[in-house]
Amino acid sequence: MTRREEIAAGLAHTRERIAAACDAAGRAPDEVTLIVVTKFFPVDDVLVLLDLGERNFGESRHQEASAKVAELARLEPEHPGRWHFIGNLQSNKAAAVAGYADVVHSVDRAKLIAPLSRGRAETAALSRDPLQVLLQVDLDPAPVSASDRSRGGADPASIPALADSVIAAEQLELRGVMGVAPLDEDPDQAFEQLARVSAQVKGRYPDATWVSSGMSGDLEAAIRHGATHARVGSAILGSRVVGR
Ligand SMILES: *Cc1c(COP(=O)(O)O)cnc(C)c1O
Repeated sequence: MTRREEIAAGLAHTRERIAAACDAAGRAPDEVTLIVVTKFFPVDDVLVLLDLGERNFGESRHQEASAKVAELARLEPEHPGRWHFIGNLQSNKAAAVAGYADVVHSVDRAKLIAPLSRGRAETAALSRDPLQVLLQVDLDPAPVSASDRSRGGADPASIPALADSVIAAEQLELRGVMGVAPLDEDPDQAFEQLARVSAQVKGRYPDATWVSSGMSGDLEAAIRHGATHARVGSAILGSRVVGR
């Protein structure tokens, strides 16, 4: 099998899973946008995906993402795709990420808002739209220790205030919420909680309708609980050599 055939097969299988999960949940398959997570995979794979009609790509580390976006801009200046930044975001990288991402899924603290907005304002000279933002919710039921910086996600109780701060920021547009089901928990429980937080946010801000949840291993559970965006990597591109 060529790499292209491999990717096409993974893509077809994933699209079938999404369609079946939507069907089982009484939802239309076009209610779920597939984001292909290309982290740890080369630009060549992104070119194949573009050729196969994919338009949404996810990256989780700033260094890798910025290099890939730049290389793609060189190879494919009319690049029609959209970049979703889905990884833990350091505040000293936030302004740079706002320069090339179309959507940031991982806003989980107030400290990120000013640099994201400022970074976007600096690229607004290129007449870009506001940066679309999702609030990442911590779905782990165990309390977070102050030293645990790896987990990512805001305490559900702090989400309403965070939503207010995003709304108040000039260059940011609040689109919804994002969550990652904890490894050793029941994904249905985690995504149920995410759906509750989403309903709360939508109650205040009706345009914030997106729910980014579901990965290769749990996209069915995510779609059962209202996912509008699934972030799928390994089921399409194969297993990554490094990372998670
Ligand atoms: C890597 C990653 C994914 C994709 O995970 P797969 O299991 O490869 O589908 C989705 N979301 C986030 C936040 C990730 O970091």
